[in-house]
Amino acid sequence: MKANYHTHTARCGHAEGTDEAYVRAAIAQGFEELGFSDHVPWPYRSGYTHPRVRMHIDRLDEYVSSIRALADRYADQIRVRVGFECENFPEYMGWLADMAQEKQLDYLILGNHYDGSDETGMYFGNARTPGELAAYVRSTIDGLRTGLFAYLAHPDLFMRGYPRFDENCRAAARELSQACRALDIPMEYNAHDRFWQPVTHSRSYPHPEFFAIARSEGVRVIIGLDAHEPRELSDPEQWNRAVQELSDFERLERLPFADAQG
Ligand SMILES: [Zn+2]
Ligand SMILES: [Zn+2]
Repeated sequence: MKANYHTHTARCGHAEGTDEAYVRAAIAQGFEELGFSDHVPWPYRSGYTHPRVRMHIDRLDEYVSSIRALADRYADQIRVRVGFECENFPEYMGWLADMAQEKQLDYLILGNHYDGSDETGMYFGNARTPGELAAYVRSTIDGLRTGLFAYLAHPDLFMRGYPRFDENCRAAARELSQACRALDIPMEYNAHDRFWQPVTHSRSYPHPEFFAIARSEGVRVIIGLDAHEPRELSDPEQWNRAVQELSDFERLERLPFADAQG
């Protein structure tokens, strides 16, 4: 079974390609299920927009209907799901739960990029101190506890900024793993930064020590390509590498949707 639930669209302002190009790339690579989880638009009370991070809320319906139309068009070749990647922004979680139900979304994932808000909160990918790391862990566990999320995306996001994997990182990995284990929420093994590594030279995630701890804590893992362009689906290298590295992990191959077959 080959399924990827972390796929963006050009609406977020930092991804490219048509929605259909992602679907066709996934079919060509033999994916049986493709989930779109673009960065959720929040209903900012201040009227704030973040055009380089997420779609404008006016595009939410068009996004859902575009993905649904592709799901119908390609139903005989691939199962296409629609959801969102979301932060834990406490003041909007009620809205998120209602919206997900109203739009009959298939799933949501927690990609906890910002501390409480992206208007005022820090970007957790820039966490550099034990205090900032602790804030990430606290906010992320609170998010998991809402019960809204199918999995935790790039749980080791802080390794984008944190200088080295130290004792504080080990404690964070243990705490996040124990929370995921207790709530039965898988963690994502996110391949996106590696796809760009030849260009960015960044060594962020998936971090081997983080996942060694997740494994010893009994957390299930799921691969996410976090595709921001169709090439991230059509190039098999990162997927194959992740499969190999997770050979002795308890790996979830697909999300347990009620209507799944087989
Ligand atoms: Zn993104
Ligand atoms: Zn993402």
